[in-house]
Amino acid sequence: MPSSPSSENPILGIDLGTTNTCVAHVRNRIPRVVPTDKGSLVLPSVVALAEKGDFLVGGVAKDQMVTNPRNTIYGAKRLIGRKFSSKVVQELRSYYSYDIVEGPQGEAAVSLGGEVRTLPQISGLVLSHVKKLAEAFLGREMGRAVISVPAYYNDNQRHAVKEAGRLAGFEVKRIVNEPTAAALAYGFNRGLDQKILVYDLGGGTFDVSVLQLSANVFEVLATGGDTFLGGVDFDNRIIDFVLEVFWREHKIDLAGSPIAMQRIKGASEAAKIDLTLIPNVALELPYIEEKKGKPLDLRVRLSRTQLDDLTVDLVDRTFEICDQVLSEKGLKPAEIDEIILVGGQSRMPLVQEKIRQRLGKPPRKGVHPDECVALGAALLGDSLDRIDSVTLVDVLSMPIGVATPQGRFRRVLEKNNAIPCSRSFRLPPPREPGQSIELDIYQGDSDDIVDNEFLGSIRLPAAATGRRVDFKLDEECLLKVTFDDPAQGMRAVDFATRDTPEQLRRALAEEAARRAPGGESSERAVRRGGGLFGWLRGRQ
Ligand code: AMP
Repeated sequence: MPSSPSSENPILGIDLGTTNTCVAHVRNRIPRVVPTDKGSLVLPSVVALAEKGDFLVGGVAKDQMVTNPRNTIYGAKRLIGRKFSSKVVQELRSYYSYDIVEGPQGEAAVSLGGEVRTLPQISGLVLSHVKKLAEAFLGREMGRAVISVPAYYNDNQRHAVKEAGRLAGFEVKRIVNEPTAAALAYGFNRGLDQKILVYDLGGGTFDVSVLQLSANVFEVLATGGDTFLGGVDFDNRIIDFVLEVFWREHKIDLAGSPIAMQRIKGASEAAKIDLTLIPNVALELPYIEEKKGKPLDLRVRLSRTQLDDLTVDLVDRTFEICDQVLSEKGLKPAEIDEIILVGGQSRMPLVQEKIRQRLGKPPRKGVHPDECVALGAALLGDSLDRIDSVTLVDVLSMPIGVATPQGRFRRVLEKNNAIPCSRSFRLPPPREPGQSIELDIYQGDSDDIVDNEFLGSIRLPAAATGRRVDFKLDEECLLKVTFDDPAQGMRAVDFATRDTPEQLRRALAEEAARRAPGGESSERAVRRGGGLFGWLRGRQ
């Protein structure tokens, strides 16, 4: 039963972007973007710790990035919900100017003012800021939200975004995939019968989805993407080019100077955006370095043609993914009725030209790439409480399965399974006779678990061998595991831990060492270790 009509207790739609966050609300069934206090339609997704110890969010945080780079957190969307040890995070560590550290659960976290902060805390600050902006603009409390995530986000990332929303004081009514939200903004209440392709090239991620729209039924047919391909990769190509030009002229490598790098980063992104409108730009940064006591200025010319040459492989990669997604469903580009663009980077002229070449038609005008996801999320929020609501049929973007003893990945739920969905299988015997049964759950496209994302482990008594276990994905694409307990019937199984198996093994070894004569008392270890050691204690 709906809690209260959406007109009385409206739900915000929030697009928590890599670069910018956009928030929308619905009034009289029309979605509108909520402007910031500066009148802008988006808020930079940046959090900083100012000299005096205050948190800054949005434009003011972004403005002090050059002078205080180590305490300015941007691009959190690329880190949230990822393991610290993952390849993506390790690559980002060398590239981001703030410190990425290991969080309490082995997840990527950041160090701000010498303190470890989790990514849900950081994104929670952005969300809490937009909550306040929306409340001031709409003149009422806004306690509920639908938040969008890339379709390619795994279970951990979805949980982390939900947690960020909770920390911001929201009741998160739904996590929705960004392309689905964009499709809603395009097709809601228009009575369309079309196949559309949503091409989403944002600041950090690329997603492509094909949807069938039939009146207010939005069915995702196929989806694909790359969580490591977005606007920042385009910026990096310009940065490398600028560094090379400066090196050729002055034999000075500016890569070693964090302040110079911040300035070059900002100027490179600005140049890229300008080149969308004009054919030539010059990056000018006075007094970027000194040589023999004399100031050196940086001045580099860049044309749109040069930018295209520097980045064409990135654009081509997006079309390889489009081809894969279409071929998975046996679709031809000619069968697509409309192409919707999402994400700021999709404005690049080269992207639009390649869309025409590769997909045979120009993208649809009139759908705003920065706003459509938030507008669609708000429309979904508004429809959640209504009887004539929309129907979303989404799909799983990456398989979910379990590890075999040989380190292989056995798929349980397949990619492109329509959600909600579930699949059961029989529990295998324990690895050692008499021990509990352990199932390590992973998500990813690889056949080897090392390349996939660890979601958590479940542990059940040896007596459960041969009983039924059920993997179920809800409409938010979040995994629930249930088990056919002989005593209680089907019951939910909590993930014993979201630590990696390696962390568990390390923790076990540490615990054993503490228990050895002269080691730390186990009681203290339990208090320090929280849930994990609680579990260990339970097994003694
Ligand atoms: P989003 O994640 O959707 O906020 O995308 C932001 C990305 O789009 C950033 O990498 C921006 O540099 C990029 N971007 C924004 N506007 C433009 C533009 N006009 N031309 C090219 N890239 C842009």
